[in-house]
Amino acid sequence: MKNLVILGSTGSIGVNTLDIVAAHPDRYRVLALTAGNNIERLEEQIRAFRPEVVAVVSESQASLLRNRLGGAPPDILWGVQGLMACASHSSAHMVVSAIVGAAGLVPTMAAIEAGHDIALANKETLVTAGPLVMARAAARGVRLVPVDSEHSAIFQSLEGHRRGDVRRMILTASGGPFRERSLAELSQVTPADALNHPNWSMGRKISIDSATMMNKGLEVIEARWLFDLPAERIDVHVHPQSIVHSMVEYIDGSVIAQLGLPDMRTPIAYALSYPERIALNIPQLDLCQIGRLTFERPDLQKFACLKLAYEALREGGTAPTVLNAANEVAVDAFLHGEISFLNISRVIAAVLEQPWDHRLDHIDDVLRADRRARSRARKTIEAIA
Ligand code: NAD
Ligand code: MG
Repeated sequence: MKNLVILGSTGSIGVNTLDIVAAHPDRYRVLALTAGNNIERLEEQIRAFRPEVVAVVSESQASLLRNRLGGAPPDILWGVQGLMACASHSSAHMVVSAIVGAAGLVPTMAAIEAGHDIALANKETLVTAGPLVMARAAARGVRLVPVDSEHSAIFQSLEGHRRGDVRRMILTASGGPFRERSLAELSQVTPADALNHPNWSMGRKISIDSATMMNKGLEVIEARWLFDLPAERIDVHVHPQSIVHSMVEYIDGSVIAQLGLPDMRTPIAYALSYPERIALNIPQLDLCQIGRLTFERPDLQKFACLKLAYEALREGGTAPTVLNAANEVAVDAFLHGEISFLNISRVIAAVLEQPWDHRLDHIDDVLRADRRARSRARKTIEAIA
């Protein structure tokens, strides 16, 4: 029986994780849940899964939840302290890191310091603080198992092979909803258009990241740290069918891929059960019905965010932290109608171009760069608007 802590349980990954837990009550028990908002959904989850402890963002949400639950509620904590207490709970066996954005970093680090294995969905943890996170995980003997479908595919394609024999990794990308739109057309697209992903149903922030292809840029950075491979050996292929989830090329020319229908329950289940597999009630992949799998190179002019991510990775230090923070602010501004779609990458580029000390020795360097980049991104947006 594995005791799970699910950080971000009310989100898209969190809900899919609980779906797997519900199907395998003999293997998984929910120890703790945390949510940033959506108290109603958290209340339902508490009634269904009976965690010992939960955490919400604010004291007022904590008392709201307490009133709604009545009877004998779990311990209800709040704020970053509450998140960290859940993440480092002494009875946990695995922490599912599924908060969205850089807000996931501090609680994920707390789980690592507590020595808990991590099922990592929150890619921003590795984007903002990759070298520090990997070093602490190694020092604490913590296993970081990816949930992101591309990284799960690579993780699976590495099993049984020698790391030293890897020549290249190829991340696949669906190309998002705007793959076939021209640059001129992209200047007109709305948040509703951008949220309409062809293959995956996900949270709002990652859906916009998929439309700009920043998601793939963040994933290149995530892969760089997770698999310890330089950026030059991580390629991106646009694969609109989202069936090949990523590939590893070896020195003898062999390419090993992992395939499956686009359903996040597969990589989540693998992270929970690794090194075993558990049965899932998912339709069979019928390649004959799909017929064709196609691949093309990404258009870096149309999807400038992907180019910016590679540049930030080459720059090193906290440059990816700055990229990520500026992206979070710009995506939020786009969703609120403050800036156009194409201005997302312009805001990020303008913030990255400012003078920065990209030193990265300590988590405080990350938090400082993150704060500063957010404030500079807001100023840039005000200047545009
Ligand atoms: P989501 O927006 O659906 O859910 C996010 C969760 O985090 C919610 O429970 C929310 O309440 C909580 N949260 C948000 N802000 C918070 C804050 N400041 N403090 C505490 N909690 C907060 O997001 P999602 O789509 O489930 O994505 C979660 C993470 O997984 C992201 O990092 C995303 O990149 C990654 N991921 C998601 C998918 C997917 O299919 N959804 C696939 C791969 C990777
Ligand atoms: Mg992904």
